[in-house]
Amino acid sequence: MNVVTPIASRTVDVSTIPTDLFIAGAWRASASGQRIEVINPSTEELLATIADASVEDGLAAVDAAAAAARGWAATAPRQRAQILLRAFELMIEKADWLAELISLENGKALADAMGEVKYAAEFFRWYAEEAVRIQGDISMAPGGGNRILVQYQPVGVSVLVTPWNFPAAMATRKIAPALAAGCSCILKPASETPLTAFALVEILCAAGVPAGVVNVVTTSQPGPLISAMLHDSRVRKLSFTGSTAVGRLLLREASDCVINCSMELGGNAPFLVFDDADLDAAVDGAMIAKMRNGGEACTAANRFYIQRGIFHAFAHKLAAKMAAMQLGDGWLASTACGPLVNEKSRDKVAAFVDDAMARGAKALTGGKPLDRKGYFYEPTVLIDVAPDSKLLHDEIFGPVAALVPFDSEDDVIELSNASEYGLVCYVYTRDLAKGLRVSERLDSGMVALNRGLVSDPAAPFGGTKQSGIGREGAHHGLLEFTEAKYIATNW
Ligand code: NAP
Repeated sequence: MNVVTPIASRTVDVSTIPTDLFIAGAWRASASGQRIEVINPSTEELLATIADASVEDGLAAVDAAAAAARGWAATAPRQRAQILLRAFELMIEKADWLAELISLENGKALADAMGEVKYAAEFFRWYAEEAVRIQGDISMAPGGGNRILVQYQPVGVSVLVTPWNFPAAMATRKIAPALAAGCSCILKPASETPLTAFALVEILCAAGVPAGVVNVVTTSQPGPLISAMLHDSRVRKLSFTGSTAVGRLLLREASDCVINCSMELGGNAPFLVFDDADLDAAVDGAMIAKMRNGGEACTAANRFYIQRGIFHAFAHKLAAKMAAMQLGDGWLASTACGPLVNEKSRDKVAAFVDDAMARGAKALTGGKPLDRKGYFYEPTVLIDVAPDSKLLHDEIFGPVAALVPFDSEDDVIELSNASEYGLVCYVYTRDLAKGLRVSERLDSGMVALNRGLVSDPAAPFGGTKQSGIGREGAHHGLLEFTEAKYIATNW
Protein backbone atom coordinates (compact mmCIF):
# COMPACT_ATOMS: atom_id res chain seq x y z
CA MET A 1 0.00 0.00 0.00
CA ASN A 2 1.28 3.46 -0.94
CA VAL A 3 0.26 6.73 0.65
CA VAL A 4 0.08 9.87 -1.49
CA THR A 5 1.22 13.17 0.02
CA PRO A 6 -1.34 15.99 -0.49
CA ILE A 7 -0.49 19.00 -2.64
CA ALA A 8 -2.29 22.33 -2.37
CA SER A 9 -3.94 22.88 -5.74
CA ARG A 10 -7.67 22.62 -6.32
CA THR A 11 -9.90 23.97 -9.04
CA VAL A 12 -13.04 23.99 -6.88
CA ASP A 13 -13.60 27.09 -4.80
CA VAL A 14 -16.21 25.80 -2.35
CA SER A 15 -17.10 29.33 -1.27
CA THR A 16 -18.74 29.94 -4.69
CA ILE A 17 -21.36 27.21 -4.08
CA PRO A 18 -24.67 28.32 -2.54
CA THR A 19 -25.23 26.74 0.87
CA ASP A 20 -28.77 27.79 1.76
CA LEU A 21 -32.10 26.09 1.12
CA PHE A 22 -33.42 26.19 -2.43
CA ILE A 23 -37.17 26.77 -2.28
CA ALA A 24 -39.52 28.18 -4.95
CA GLY A 25 -36.63 29.05 -7.23
CA ALA A 26 -34.66 31.10 -4.67
CA TRP A 27 -31.94 30.52 -2.09
CA ARG A 28 -32.98 31.29 1.46
CA ALA A 29 -31.57 30.81 4.96
CA SER A 30 -33.32 28.35 7.26
CA ALA A 31 -36.00 29.77 9.56
CA SER A 32 -33.82 29.03 12.60
CA GLY A 33 -30.59 30.40 11.10
CA GLN A 34 -28.85 27.19 12.25
CA ARG A 35 -26.03 25.71 10.15
CA ILE A 36 -24.58 22.22 9.62
CA GLU A 37 -20.83 21.63 9.15
CA VAL A 38 -19.59 19.77 6.09
CA ILE A 39 -16.24 18.07 6.64
CA ASN A 40 -13.62 16.99 4.10
CA PRO A 41 -13.09 13.30 5.03
CA SER A 42 -9.56 13.29 3.55
CA THR A 43 -8.32 15.98 5.95
CA GLU A 44 -11.02 16.28 8.66
CA GLU A 45 -11.10 20.03 7.83
CA LEU A 46 -14.24 22.13 7.60
CA LEU A 47 -15.30 22.51 3.96
CA ALA A 48 -18.44 24.63 4.38
CA THR A 49 -21.49 25.18 6.54
CA ILE A 50 -24.98 24.73 5.13
CA ALA A 51 -28.50 25.73 6.14
CA ASP A 52 -30.22 23.49 8.69
CA ALA A 53 -33.89 23.30 7.71
CA SER A 54 -36.66 23.08 10.29
CA VAL A 55 -40.01 21.36 9.77
CA GLU A 56 -41.38 24.80 8.83
CA ASP A 57 -38.79 25.10 6.02
CA GLY A 58 -39.62 21.60 4.83
CA LEU A 59 -43.29 22.45 4.57
CA ALA A 60 -42.42 25.68 2.72
CA ALA A 61 -40.69 23.45 0.16
CA VAL A 62 -43.88 21.35 -0.09
CA ASP A 63 -45.85 24.60 -0.66
CA ALA A 64 -43.48 25.49 -3.49
CA ALA A 65 -43.58 22.04 -5.09
CA ALA A 66 -47.38 21.89 -4.80
CA ALA A 67 -47.75 25.35 -6.38
CA ALA A 68 -45.55 24.31 -9.31
CA ALA A 69 -47.01 20.82 -9.76
CA ARG A 70 -49.91 21.52 -12.09
CA GLY A 71 -47.95 23.78 -14.43
CA TRP A 72 -45.09 21.30 -14.70
CA ALA A 73 -47.40 18.35 -15.30
CA ALA A 74 -49.01 20.35 -18.14
CA THR A 75 -45.66 21.25 -19.74
CA ALA A 76 -45.23 19.56 -23.11
CA PRO A 77 -43.16 16.37 -22.80
CA ARG A 78 -40.83 17.68 -25.51
CA GLN A 79 -40.12 20.78 -23.42
CA ARG A 80 -39.43 18.68 -20.33
CA ALA A 81 -37.12 16.54 -22.49
CA GLN A 82 -35.23 19.57 -23.77
CA ILE A 83 -34.63 20.88 -20.26
CA LEU A 84 -33.32 17.48 -19.15
CA LEU A 85 -31.09 17.22 -22.20
CA ARG A 86 -29.67 20.67 -21.47
CA ALA A 87 -29.02 19.58 -17.86
CA PHE A 88 -27.09 16.59 -19.24
CA GLU A 89 -24.97 18.86 -21.47
CA LEU A 90 -24.26 21.33 -18.66
CA MET A 91 -23.29 18.54 -16.32
CA ILE A 92 -20.84 17.09 -18.84
CA GLU A 93 -19.38 20.58 -19.44
CA LYS A 94 -18.75 20.86 -15.69
CA ALA A 95 -17.68 17.24 -15.23
CA ASP A 96 -14.13 17.94 -13.98
CA TRP A 97 -15.32 20.55 -11.51
CA LEU A 98 -18.17 18.37 -10.23
CA ALA A 99 -15.90 15.34 -9.86
CA GLU A 100 -13.50 17.32 -7.71
CA LEU A 101 -16.36 18.67 -5.60
CA ILE A 102 -17.65 15.12 -5.02
CA SER A 103 -14.15 13.98 -4.03
CA LEU A 104 -13.80 16.88 -1.61
CA GLU A 105 -17.01 16.25 0.31
CA ASN A 106 -17.30 12.48 -0.04
CA GLY A 107 -13.62 11.50 -0.11
CA LYS A 108 -13.87 9.10 -3.04
CA ALA A 109 -11.02 8.92 -5.53
CA LEU A 110 -11.23 11.40 -8.39
CA ALA A 111 -11.51 8.63 -11.00
CA ASP A 112 -14.52 7.20 -9.12
CA ALA A 113 -16.00 10.69 -8.83
CA MET A 114 -15.58 11.26 -12.56
CA GLY A 115 -17.25 7.91 -13.23
CA GLU A 116 -20.10 8.99 -10.99
CA VAL A 117 -20.54 12.35 -12.73
CA LYS A 118 -20.84 10.68 -16.14
CA TYR A 119 -23.21 8.03 -14.76
CA ALA A 120 -25.27 10.71 -13.00
CA ALA A 121 -25.48 12.93 -16.09
CA GLU A 122 -26.67 9.98 -18.16
CA PHE A 123 -29.88 9.86 -16.09
CA PHE A 124 -30.72 13.33 -17.42
CA ARG A 125 -30.10 12.18 -20.99
CA TRP A 126 -31.89 8.85 -20.59
CA TYR A 127 -34.99 10.45 -19.05
CA ALA A 128 -34.95 13.26 -21.64
CA GLU A 129 -35.42 10.42 -24.12
CA GLU A 130 -38.07 8.73 -21.94
CA ALA A 131 -40.10 11.93 -21.30
CA VAL A 132 -41.59 11.75 -24.78
CA ARG A 133 -42.34 8.02 -24.53
CA ILE A 134 -44.89 7.82 -21.73
CA GLN A 135 -47.28 5.60 -23.61
CA GLY A 136 -50.65 4.29 -22.48
CA ASP A 137 -52.62 1.22 -23.51
CA ILE A 138 -55.95 0.62 -25.15
CA SER A 139 -57.62 -2.76 -25.31
CA MET A 140 -60.98 -4.46 -25.73
CA ALA A 141 -62.35 -5.97 -22.52
CA PRO A 142 -62.41 -9.80 -22.82
CA GLY A 143 -66.23 -9.80 -22.89
CA GLY A 144 -66.20 -7.58 -26.00
CA GLY A 145 -67.75 -4.14 -26.40
CA ASN A 146 -66.10 -2.27 -23.53
CA ARG A 147 -62.80 -0.53 -24.02
CA ILE A 148 -60.03 -0.32 -21.45
CA LEU A 149 -57.92 2.84 -21.72
CA VAL A 150 -54.86 3.20 -19.51
CA GLN A 151 -53.02 6.48 -19.23
CA TYR A 152 -49.88 7.15 -17.13
CA GLN A 153 -50.20 10.40 -15.19
CA PRO A 154 -47.62 12.09 -12.91
CA VAL A 155 -47.91 10.74 -9.38
CA GLY A 156 -47.57 14.26 -7.95
CA VAL A 157 -45.35 16.04 -5.46
CA SER A 158 -42.39 13.76 -4.72
CA VAL A 159 -40.04 13.71 -1.74
CA LEU A 160 -36.59 12.40 -2.71
CA VAL A 161 -34.18 11.35 0.04
CA THR A 162 -30.63 10.43 -0.96
CA PRO A 163 -27.45 9.05 0.70
CA TRP A 164 -23.89 10.39 0.67
CA ASN A 165 -22.17 7.56 -1.22
CA PHE A 166 -23.22 8.72 -4.71
CA PRO A 167 -24.20 12.34 -4.05
CA ALA A 168 -24.76 13.15 -7.73
CA ALA A 169 -26.04 9.88 -9.16
CA MET A 170 -28.55 9.06 -6.43
CA ALA A 171 -30.04 12.54 -6.89
CA THR A 172 -30.23 12.50 -10.70
CA ARG A 173 -31.55 8.90 -10.67
CA LYS A 174 -34.61 10.33 -8.89
CA ILE A 175 -34.87 13.93 -10.15
CA ALA A 176 -34.61 12.98 -13.84
CA PRO A 177 -37.50 10.46 -13.93
CA ALA A 178 -39.60 12.66 -11.62
CA LEU A 179 -39.24 15.63 -13.97
CA ALA A 180 -39.70 13.49 -17.08
CA ALA A 181 -42.95 12.11 -15.67
CA GLY A 182 -44.20 15.63 -14.86
CA CYS A 183 -43.69 15.65 -11.08
CA SER A 184 -42.36 18.49 -8.96
CA CYS A 185 -40.05 17.45 -6.14
CA ILE A 186 -38.19 18.19 -2.94
CA LEU A 187 -34.71 16.71 -2.62
CA LYS A 188 -33.29 16.00 0.85
CA PRO A 189 -29.62 15.11 0.29
CA ALA A 190 -27.39 13.53 2.93
CA SER A 191 -25.82 15.95 5.40
CA GLU A 192 -22.30 14.75 4.53
CA THR A 193 -22.59 15.64 0.82
CA PRO A 194 -25.01 18.54 0.28
CA LEU A 195 -22.72 20.69 -1.91
CA THR A 196 -23.08 18.36 -4.89
CA ALA A 197 -26.87 18.63 -4.57
CA PHE A 198 -26.64 22.43 -4.49
CA ALA A 199 -24.40 22.37 -7.57
CA LEU A 200 -26.91 20.12 -9.35
CA VAL A 201 -29.79 22.46 -8.63
CA GLU A 202 -27.83 25.33 -10.16
CA ILE A 203 -27.38 23.21 -13.28
CA LEU A 204 -31.09 22.42 -13.38
CA CYS A 205 -31.97 26.11 -13.06
CA ALA A 206 -29.55 27.02 -15.83
CA ALA A 207 -31.16 24.29 -17.95
CA GLY A 208 -34.55 25.97 -17.53
CA VAL A 209 -36.36 24.11 -14.74
CA PRO A 210 -39.11 26.52 -13.54
CA ALA A 211 -39.24 27.81 -9.96
CA GLY A 212 -40.73 25.38 -7.47
CA VAL A 213 -40.31 22.28 -9.66
CA VAL A 214 -37.10 21.24 -7.87
CA ASN A 215 -36.50 22.28 -4.25
CA VAL A 216 -33.61 21.27 -2.00
CA VAL A 217 -33.61 21.19 1.80
CA THR A 218 -30.79 20.09 4.08
CA THR A 219 -31.35 19.34 7.74
CA SER A 220 -29.81 17.89 10.85
CA GLN A 221 -33.29 16.60 11.81
CA PRO A 222 -34.30 14.39 8.88
CA GLY A 223 -36.74 12.34 10.97
CA PRO A 224 -39.20 15.10 11.96
CA LEU A 225 -38.78 16.98 8.67
CA ILE A 226 -39.47 14.01 6.37
CA SER A 227 -42.25 12.82 8.67
CA ALA A 228 -44.00 16.20 8.40
CA MET A 229 -43.75 16.07 4.62
CA LEU A 230 -45.11 12.52 4.48
CA HIS A 231 -48.09 13.61 6.59
CA ASP A 232 -48.89 16.49 4.24
CA SER A 233 -51.65 15.25 1.92
CA ARG A 234 -50.17 17.17 -1.03
CA VAL A 235 -47.16 14.83 -1.03
CA ARG A 236 -47.90 11.69 -3.08
CA LYS A 237 -44.53 9.99 -3.47
CA LEU A 238 -41.47 9.04 -1.44
CA SER A 239 -38.39 7.87 -3.28
CA PHE A 240 -35.71 6.89 -0.79
CA THR A 241 -32.18 5.57 -1.17
CA GLY A 242 -30.31 4.70 1.99
CA SER A 243 -30.00 2.11 4.69
CA THR A 244 -32.58 -0.61 5.27
CA ALA A 245 -33.01 0.57 8.88
CA VAL A 246 -34.07 4.09 7.83
CA GLY A 247 -36.07 2.65 4.93
CA ARG A 248 -38.16 0.54 7.31
CA LEU A 249 -38.80 3.58 9.47
CA LEU A 250 -39.90 5.67 6.48
CA LEU A 251 -42.20 2.92 5.20
CA ARG A 252 -43.94 3.09 8.59
CA GLU A 253 -44.19 6.89 8.34
CA ALA A 254 -45.48 6.69 4.77
CA SER A 255 -48.20 4.22 5.73
CA ASP A 256 -50.25 6.85 7.60
CA CYS A 257 -51.08 8.70 4.39
CA VAL A 258 -50.57 5.65 2.12
CA ILE A 259 -47.79 7.37 0.18
CA ASN A 260 -46.48 5.67 -2.95
CA CYS A 261 -42.95 4.46 -2.03
CA SER A 262 -39.87 3.45 -3.99
CA MET A 263 -37.09 2.17 -1.75
CA GLU A 264 -33.46 1.50 -2.74
CA LEU A 265 -31.93 0.03 0.41
CA GLY A 266 -28.89 -1.85 1.65
CA GLY A 267 -27.10 -4.82 0.14
CA ASN A 268 -24.81 -7.70 1.08
CA ALA A 269 -23.64 -8.79 -2.34
CA PRO A 270 -22.05 -12.23 -2.76
CA PHE A 271 -19.28 -12.56 -5.36
CA LEU A 272 -19.11 -16.13 -6.69
CA VAL A 273 -16.07 -17.45 -8.55
CA PHE A 274 -16.28 -20.99 -9.94
CA ASP A 275 -13.21 -23.13 -10.64
CA ASP A 276 -13.71 -22.74 -14.39
CA ALA A 277 -13.70 -18.91 -14.29
CA ASP A 278 -11.14 -16.77 -16.08
CA LEU A 279 -9.12 -16.07 -12.94
CA ASP A 280 -7.59 -12.75 -14.01
CA ALA A 281 -10.95 -11.47 -15.24
CA ALA A 282 -12.52 -12.52 -11.92
CA VAL A 283 -9.84 -10.67 -9.94
CA ASP A 284 -10.28 -7.54 -12.09
CA GLY A 285 -14.06 -7.79 -11.64
CA ALA A 286 -13.59 -8.24 -7.90
CA MET A 287 -11.52 -5.06 -7.72
CA ILE A 288 -14.34 -3.11 -9.40
CA ALA A 289 -17.15 -4.76 -7.44
CA LYS A 290 -15.29 -4.29 -4.14
CA MET A 291 -13.28 -1.10 -4.54
CA ARG A 292 -15.43 1.25 -6.65
CA ASN A 293 -16.00 4.14 -4.22
CA GLY A 294 -13.57 2.52 -1.78
CA GLY A 295 -16.20 -0.12 -0.99
CA GLU A 296 -18.86 2.43 -0.07
CA ALA A 297 -21.50 1.22 -2.53
CA CYS A 298 -24.75 -0.64 -1.96
CA THR A 299 -23.62 -2.88 -4.81
CA ALA A 300 -20.20 -3.52 -3.25
CA ALA A 301 -19.21 -7.18 -3.14
CA ASN A 302 -19.42 -8.00 0.56
CA ARG A 303 -18.85 -11.78 0.69
CA PHE A 304 -16.49 -13.54 -1.72
CA TYR A 305 -17.33 -17.21 -2.26
CA ILE A 306 -14.47 -18.84 -4.18
CA GLN A 307 -14.54 -22.47 -5.33
CA ARG A 308 -11.92 -24.45 -3.44
CA GLY A 309 -9.73 -25.37 -6.45
CA ILE A 310 -8.81 -21.75 -7.18
CA PHE A 311 -9.27 -20.27 -3.70
CA HIS A 312 -5.61 -19.61 -2.91
CA ALA A 313 -4.70 -18.38 -6.39
CA PHE A 314 -7.62 -15.93 -6.32
CA ALA A 315 -6.89 -14.79 -2.76
CA HIS A 316 -3.22 -14.01 -3.46
CA LYS A 317 -3.89 -12.23 -6.76
CA LEU A 318 -6.61 -10.10 -5.13
CA ALA A 319 -4.41 -9.33 -2.12
CA ALA A 320 -1.57 -8.20 -4.42
CA LYS A 321 -3.89 -5.78 -6.24
CA MET A 322 -5.40 -4.46 -3.02
CA ALA A 323 -1.95 -3.94 -1.49
CA ALA A 324 -0.83 -1.96 -4.54
CA MET A 325 -3.63 0.61 -4.28
CA GLN A 326 -2.55 4.22 -3.71
CA LEU A 327 -4.29 5.71 -0.69
CA GLY A 328 -4.64 9.45 -0.44
CA ASP A 329 -6.88 12.52 -0.47
CA GLY A 330 -9.77 11.70 -2.77
CA TRP A 331 -9.36 14.79 -4.96
CA LEU A 332 -5.76 13.94 -5.94
CA ALA A 333 -5.52 12.41 -9.41
CA SER A 334 -3.00 9.81 -8.19
CA THR A 335 -5.32 8.41 -5.50
CA ALA A 336 -6.91 5.02 -6.13
CA CYS A 337 -8.60 4.73 -2.73
CA GLY A 338 -9.76 7.68 -0.64
CA PRO A 339 -10.92 7.77 2.97
CA LEU A 340 -14.25 6.56 4.31
CA VAL A 341 -16.89 9.24 4.57
CA ASN A 342 -16.66 9.86 8.31
CA GLU A 343 -15.22 8.60 11.56
CA LYS A 344 -18.26 6.45 12.35
CA SER A 345 -17.94 4.58 9.04
CA ARG A 346 -14.19 4.06 9.52
CA ASP A 347 -14.74 2.77 13.05
CA LYS A 348 -17.50 0.42 11.89
CA VAL A 349 -15.17 -1.11 9.28
CA ALA A 350 -12.42 -1.46 11.90
CA ALA A 351 -14.84 -3.14 14.32
CA PHE A 352 -15.97 -5.62 11.61
CA VAL A 353 -12.38 -6.59 10.80
CA ASP A 354 -11.45 -6.88 14.49
CA ASP A 355 -14.51 -9.10 15.05
CA ALA A 356 -13.55 -11.37 12.12
CA MET A 357 -9.94 -11.60 13.29
CA ALA A 358 -11.03 -12.40 16.85
CA ARG A 359 -12.93 -15.35 15.31
CA GLY A 360 -9.81 -16.61 13.51
CA ALA A 361 -9.58 -14.62 10.26
CA LYS A 362 -6.14 -13.77 8.81
CA ALA A 363 -5.35 -10.62 6.83
CA LEU A 364 -3.42 -11.28 3.60
CA THR A 365 -3.07 -7.52 3.35
CA GLY A 366 -4.33 -4.53 5.38
CA GLY A 367 -6.34 -5.00 8.55
CA LYS A 368 -6.09 -1.62 10.26
CA PRO A 369 -6.88 2.11 9.95
CA LEU A 370 -4.22 4.35 8.45
CA ASP A 371 -2.21 6.42 10.91
CA ARG A 372 -2.83 9.91 9.43
CA LYS A 373 -5.51 12.60 9.36
CA GLY A 374 -8.63 11.56 7.48
CA TYR A 375 -10.86 8.52 7.83
CA PHE A 376 -8.63 6.04 6.02
CA TYR A 377 -8.70 2.26 6.32
CA GLU A 378 -6.23 0.00 4.55
CA PRO A 379 -7.54 -2.11 1.64
CA THR A 380 -7.88 -5.48 3.32
CA VAL A 381 -8.24 -9.12 2.23
CA LEU A 382 -9.29 -11.66 4.86
CA ILE A 383 -9.20 -15.46 4.68
CA ASP A 384 -10.20 -18.13 7.23
CA VAL A 385 -13.32 -16.08 7.94
CA ALA A 386 -15.64 -17.84 10.42
CA PRO A 387 -19.27 -18.17 9.25
CA ASP A 388 -20.60 -16.15 12.19
CA SER A 389 -18.32 -13.16 11.52
CA LYS A 390 -20.38 -9.97 11.45
CA LEU A 391 -18.98 -8.80 8.12
CA LEU A 392 -20.49 -11.79 6.30
CA HIS A 393 -23.97 -10.76 7.45
CA ASP A 394 -23.96 -6.95 7.41
CA GLU A 395 -22.82 -4.36 4.89
CA ILE A 396 -19.11 -3.64 5.42
CA PHE A 397 -19.25 -0.43 3.35
CA GLY A 398 -15.49 -0.21 3.23
CA PRO A 399 -12.36 -1.56 1.50
CA VAL A 400 -12.47 -5.04 3.03
CA ALA A 401 -12.87 -8.33 1.12
CA ALA A 402 -13.80 -11.41 3.15
CA LEU A 403 -13.04 -14.66 1.27
CA VAL A 404 -14.77 -17.99 1.95
CA PRO A 405 -14.20 -21.25 0.01
CA PHE A 406 -17.09 -23.35 -1.33
CA ASP A 407 -17.40 -26.80 -2.92
CA SER A 408 -20.62 -27.16 -4.90
CA GLU A 409 -23.07 -25.05 -6.88
CA ASP A 410 -25.89 -25.91 -4.48
CA ASP A 411 -23.79 -24.93 -1.45
CA VAL A 412 -22.86 -21.54 -2.83
CA ILE A 413 -26.41 -20.71 -3.86
CA GLU A 414 -27.64 -21.58 -0.37
CA LEU A 415 -24.90 -19.43 1.20
CA SER A 416 -25.60 -16.54 -1.17
CA ASN A 417 -29.35 -16.55 -0.58
CA ALA A 418 -29.01 -16.80 3.22
CA SER A 419 -29.32 -13.04 3.70
CA GLU A 420 -32.11 -10.58 4.37
CA TYR A 421 -30.67 -8.55 1.46
CA GLY A 422 -31.13 -9.24 -2.24
CA LEU A 423 -29.69 -6.35 -4.21
CA VAL A 424 -27.02 -7.80 -6.48
CA CYS A 425 -24.88 -10.94 -6.92
CA TYR A 426 -21.75 -11.41 -9.00
CA VAL A 427 -20.98 -14.69 -10.77
CA TYR A 428 -17.79 -15.68 -12.60
CA THR A 429 -17.69 -18.83 -14.72
CA ARG A 430 -16.71 -19.68 -18.30
CA ASP A 431 -19.72 -22.01 -18.56
CA LEU A 432 -22.53 -19.77 -19.79
CA ALA A 433 -25.26 -22.35 -19.12
CA LYS A 434 -24.08 -22.66 -15.52
CA GLY A 435 -23.83 -18.89 -15.21
CA LEU A 436 -27.41 -18.39 -16.37
CA ARG A 437 -28.70 -21.30 -14.26
CA VAL A 438 -27.03 -19.90 -11.14
CA SER A 439 -28.22 -16.36 -11.96
CA GLU A 440 -31.82 -17.56 -12.07
CA ARG A 441 -31.51 -19.27 -8.69
CA LEU A 442 -29.97 -16.29 -6.89
CA ASP A 443 -32.52 -14.29 -4.93
CA SER A 444 -31.57 -10.76 -5.91
CA GLY A 445 -32.84 -7.97 -8.11
CA MET A 446 -29.66 -7.94 -10.20
CA VAL A 447 -26.91 -10.36 -11.22
CA ALA A 448 -23.59 -9.42 -12.81
CA LEU A 449 -22.44 -12.39 -14.88
CA ASN A 450 -18.70 -12.17 -15.63
CA ARG A 451 -18.89 -8.44 -14.87
CA GLY A 452 -17.92 -6.36 -11.84
CA LEU A 453 -20.47 -3.62 -12.44
CA VAL A 454 -24.23 -3.56 -13.02
CA SER A 455 -25.12 0.14 -12.88
CA ASP A 456 -26.54 1.52 -16.14
CA PRO A 457 -29.20 4.24 -16.53
CA ALA A 458 -30.91 2.11 -19.17
CA ALA A 459 -31.25 -0.91 -16.84
CA PRO A 460 -33.74 -1.49 -13.99
CA PHE A 461 -31.73 -1.13 -10.78
CA GLY A 462 -33.19 -2.46 -7.53
CA GLY A 463 -33.41 -5.26 -5.05
CA THR A 464 -35.53 -8.05 -3.65
CA LYS A 465 -36.17 -8.84 0.03
CA GLN A 466 -35.02 -6.08 2.36
CA SER A 467 -32.93 -4.39 -0.33
CA GLY A 468 -35.91 -2.47 -1.55
CA ILE A 469 -39.14 -1.97 -3.43
CA GLY A 470 -39.30 -0.75 -7.02
CA ARG A 471 -36.69 -0.03 -9.66
CA GLU A 472 -34.68 3.00 -10.75
CA GLY A 473 -33.35 3.56 -14.25
CA ALA A 474 -34.78 2.19 -17.51
CA HIS A 475 -38.47 2.75 -18.35
CA HIS A 476 -39.28 1.14 -14.98
CA GLY A 477 -37.80 4.17 -13.18
CA LEU A 478 -40.14 6.50 -15.06
CA LEU A 479 -43.22 4.45 -14.19
CA GLU A 480 -42.31 4.77 -10.48
CA PHE A 481 -43.29 8.45 -10.82
CA THR A 482 -46.62 7.79 -12.54
CA GLU A 483 -50.04 6.46 -11.61
CA ALA A 484 -51.94 4.28 -14.07
CA LYS A 485 -55.29 5.94 -14.78
CA TYR A 486 -57.85 3.46 -16.14
CA ILE A 487 -60.72 4.91 -18.14
CA ALA A 488 -63.59 2.49 -18.79
CA THR A 489 -65.40 3.43 -21.93
CA ASN A 490 -67.39 2.27 -24.88
CA TRP A 491 -68.20 3.65 -28.29
P1 NAP B 1 -28.96 6.48 5.73
O1 NAP B 1 -28.35 6.74 7.04
O2 NAP B 1 -30.16 5.60 5.66
O3 NAP B 1 -29.30 7.93 5.13
C1 NAP B 1 -29.88 8.08 3.84
C2 NAP B 1 -30.65 9.38 3.82
O4 NAP B 1 -31.72 9.29 4.75
C3 NAP B 1 -29.83 10.61 4.21
O5 NAP B 1 -30.28 11.70 3.46
C4 NAP B 1 -30.18 10.77 5.68
O6 NAP B 1 -30.04 12.08 6.14
C5 NAP B 1 -31.65 10.38 5.65
N1 NAP B 1 -32.17 9.96 6.95
C6 NAP B 1 -31.50 9.46 8.00
N2 NAP B 1 -32.34 9.20 9.02
C7 NAP B 1 -33.57 9.56 8.60
C8 NAP B 1 -34.86 9.55 9.18
N3 NAP B 1 -35.06 9.13 10.42
N4 NAP B 1 -35.90 9.99 8.46
C9 NAP B 1 -35.71 10.44 7.20
N5 NAP B 1 -34.54 10.48 6.59
C10 NAP B 1 -33.46 10.04 7.27
O7 NAP B 1 -27.95 5.87 4.69
P2 NAP B 1 -26.49 6.37 4.35
O8 NAP B 1 -25.60 5.95 5.45
O9 NAP B 1 -26.51 7.81 3.96
O10 NAP B 1 -26.18 5.56 3.01
C11 NAP B 1 -25.68 4.28 3.02
C12 NAP B 1 -26.81 3.27 2.81
O11 NAP B 1 -27.47 3.55 1.60
C13 NAP B 1 -26.28 1.87 2.69
O12 NAP B 1 -27.07 0.99 3.42
C14 NAP B 1 -26.40 1.59 1.20
O13 NAP B 1 -26.50 0.23 0.88
C15 NAP B 1 -27.62 2.35 0.85
N6 NAP B 1 -27.66 2.64 -0.59
C16 NAP B 1 -28.52 1.93 -1.36
C17 NAP B 1 -28.55 2.16 -2.72
C18 NAP B 1 -29.49 1.38 -3.61
O14 NAP B 1 -29.68 1.80 -4.74
N7 NAP B 1 -30.07 0.29 -3.17
C19 NAP B 1 -27.70 3.10 -3.30
C20 NAP B 1 -26.83 3.80 -2.48
C21 NAP B 1 -26.83 3.56 -1.11
P3 NAP B 1 -28.72 12.51 6.98
O15 NAP B 1 -27.59 12.41 6.05
O16 NAP B 1 -28.99 13.91 7.39
O17 NAP B 1 -28.60 11.55 8.13
